[in-house]
Amino acid sequence: MDKKLLVFGHKSPDTDSIASSIAMAFLQTKLGNSAEPRRLGNISKETEYALNHFKIGVPELLTSVSEDDNIILVDHNEFDQSVDNVQNSHIYMVVDHHRISNFQTTDPLYYYAEPVGCTCTILYKLFELNHIMIPADVAGLMLSAIISDTLLFKSPTCTKLDITTAERLAQISNTDINTYGLAMLKAGTDLSSFSEEELLDLDAKLVTIGNTVKAKIAQVNTADINDVMSRKDKLEKVMQNGINSLNLDLSVLLITDIINSNSQVIVLGSRSDLIEKSYSVKLENNTAFLKGIVSRKKQVIPILTANV
Ligand code: MN
Ligand code: MN
Repeated sequence: MDKKLLVFGHKSPDTDSIASSIAMAFLQTKLGNSAEPRRLGNISKETEYALNHFKIGVPELLTSVSEDDNIILVDHNEFDQSVDNVQNSHIYMVVDHHRISNFQTTDPLYYYAEPVGCTCTILYKLFELNHIMIPADVAGLMLSAIISDTLLFKSPTCTKLDITTAERLAQISNTDINTYGLAMLKAGTDLSSFSEEELLDLDAKLVTIGNTVKAKIAQVNTADINDVMSRKDKLEKVMQNGINSLNLDLSVLLITDIINSNSQVIVLGSRSDLIEKSYSVKLENNTAFLKGIVSRKKQVIPILTANV
């Protein structure tokens, strides 16, 4: 391939999107292709911590692609979550661990998908398949992505393969998984610089539940639920504005305690009863504690859908 490959993850990039882009660009370069990582938005404090720790630079920002561009998508495939004009560029490869949806190409492509906890877990296999050694700094960053996506192996999305891969990457990068992992996750929970509007948009998904309930489900990670709950009044105001402007039936903010793997929810909207019914809780002042709930993908959206 003589043309440069641009490698990037989804918009509102998380640590996996950034780490996968950097690792994949490195792998392609080793395979003799010219490749560079890109990002589709600002990096999080958690990602910044990981990049600094392993002394790796932040990828350049990419805002749009053209039909001349050769691209590799990592950690996503849905065009809605990708760069502007993605459908007109040439997609050379996809490496991803999400559902495949809203995705179509005109040309054949490489597509690597597995239902594991992190894109970097799949990437590790691709390094092995191609007999390419992973340098310590890249291994550390890939480990960071697995820790991030699986919340230190505690998320229900985590598989055995994620754990064994993380252990190997920890050896290569000479990292203590628990000490480093907790420090990295905690770095991502410093929410003090964000406004309430920003908090509710850091990681938010608009979903229609059971074809009838229009919902926004936002999530923030914290080491101390009370920290976020001290801003409850202001958060509720912003949530109510969202309900009015987007015509929502339900607005949920999951405040997830990443240390103990529980969530406090703030719930507003005419269908708040769905949360009470789904988790057998009573909302008091629009809030309830959900023991053991951390994954929107596996423990919230499907449960609400089953109870609608
Ligand atoms: Mn991601
Ligand atoms: Mn991911």
